[in-house]
Formats: sequence, structure tokens, C-alpha cells
Amino acid sequence: MFDYHPAPNLLAERIILVTGAGDGIGRAAAKTYAAHGATVILLGRTIRKLEIVYDEIEAAGHPQAAIYPMNLEGATAKDYEDLARTLCDEFGHLDGLLHNAAMLGALTPLDYYDTTMWFQVMQVNLNAPFLLTKACLPLLRKAADASVIYTSSSVGRKGRAYWGAYAVSKFGIEGMAQVLADELETNTNIRVNTINPGGTRTGMRSSAFPGEDPATLPTPEQIIPLYLYLMGADGRSIHGQSLNAQDTQLPTAS
Ligand code: NAP
Repeated sequence: MFDYHPAPNLLAERIILVTGAGDGIGRAAAKTYAAHGATVILLGRTIRKLEIVYDEIEAAGHPQAAIYPMNLEGATAKDYEDLARTLCDEFGHLDGLLHNAAMLGALTPLDYYDTTMWFQVMQVNLNAPFLLTKACLPLLRKAADASVIYTSSSVGRKGRAYWGAYAVSKFGIEGMAQVLADELETNTNIRVNTINPGGTRTGMRSSAFPGEDPATLPTPEQIIPLYLYLMGADGRSIHGQSLNAQDTQLPTAS
């Protein structure tokens, strides 16, 4: 696992948006960012889950979070522009954007893949991150040191039978991150990277591997150090990388 021991106030004064913040890896990332001083915007579709994370952050005495309910499946470009306007009015800029929310879809051969589901998966896993990135770039440009993290998967780096739209959407994520990183290569304050969490103990993982013993997998909290490193100033030099949360050893890690 990535070995990182950050300063307790690593993310003080930073505004960070996390999608899919109500559960799994997104929940752990949101709480960890808040624990290191960030004001976290919790975006997700299930308000009850977001409220629990909000309450946990508040009970721990961390900076007050904000809840932004949004179903990425039905959201339109205007919804993302409204979100960006709200963030601009409330905070004036954005220091971090973690694209985490995703859906698994079906695990089935392409010739049997349900067309409606294909479009759903692409909407949530690929089109939504594009629309959110586009809407948030002006806010990220206003930050002194901004970080965009996309969430990938091993099946988004090497194709695997039956992983269908999920795998293809993650290849798209890797492609989007490469294109954006190249566009922001020079004269920019924004760094862009992807993280493959690797097998992690969450609901999505159980759905994909129902026969697996969850106790054999790391928890979301255990894989979060790389998410923290990339979000703070210590990760400032990392740009355009496709990283793995469970086996990355960055030279500057202490
Ligand atoms: P998870 O526990 O299922 O969490 C997924 C999150 O995305 C949930 O908060 C969910 O909200 C949200 N979400 C799903 N559809 C949404 C929609 N239409 N609108 C808004 N939010 C939506 O999964 P996870 O394992 O933490 O996955 C997090 C990321 O890691 C994903 O990008 C996944 O592809 C990636 N990943 C995970 C693993 C693993 O082993 N766990 C491995 C490789 C990659 P609700 O809770 O309200 O449904």
C-alpha cells in the first residue's frame, strides 16, 4: 500500500468536490479530505447516505461539509453549469475534484449486452465526468494548486471478457485524463491523474465478485493514502500519471 504520512492540516482551506461521496471509496475519500482540513462537497444520488457522511464529518469536528444531491444518470449539461455557478457563488474556486462515482452495469458478453444499460453506464461513468470536468475547469483555474483525480480500473487499462460497458467507460476515463493532462501540460495550476483503486471492500466489488470473501480485500480507508497525496501540495509534481492505489511507490513519499 502507498505509504504516506501527511501533515494533519495538509488540505486546510481547500475546497474539494467528491462524486459518489455517500458510499465506498468516495465516502472514505471525503472523510479523509475533511479530516485533513478540506471543505468537502459531497455529491451523490442518495441523500440519506450523504447526510450520514456529513454528520460523521461534523461529529469529528472537521470543516463543515456541503451536500449536493445529483443523479449523474439523468443530469444534463445545464445541471453541471448550475452546480458550477453554485460553487462559484459559495466558494469562488475549486481546489480538488475527485471523479469517483460509477456503476458496474452488467457482466456479460458484448453480443448480449443490453443496449439501454450500455448507455446508462456510459452516461454515469464517462459522460458525467466529462460534463463535470468541463463545468468545473473555470473554478479549478482560479485555485492556486488544483488537482483532478479520475477513477479508473484494471479493466480500463487492459480489456477483459464480459466487463462490457464498465471496462470501455474506464478506457474512456483513461483517455480523457490523458487528453486533459496534455492540454494542461504547461502554464497551468491544474494537475490531472487517474487512480486504479484495485480490488477494494465495497458494494460494487461484492456485486462483481459475489463469491469472494470481502475480508481478503483492503478497506476503502486502507487505499486512501494515494488519493490524499494527489490532492495535496505534496503531490504537486505528479501530472498525467495512471497510478495504482495499492502498489504505487512515489519517490517523494515520506
Ligand atoms: P460503490 O461502493 O458502489 O460506490 C459507488 C458510488 O457511486 C456510490 O456512492 C453511488 O451512490 C455513486 N453512484 C453510482 N451511480 C450514481 C449516479 N447515477 N449518480 C450519482 N452517484 C452515483 O463503489 P466503489 O467500489 O466505492 O467504487 C468507487 C470507484 O472505484 C468507482 O469509480 C469504481 O469503478 C472504482 N473501482 C472500484 C474497485 C473496487 O474494487 N471497489 C475497483 C476498481 C475501480 P449510491 O450509494 O447512492 O448508489
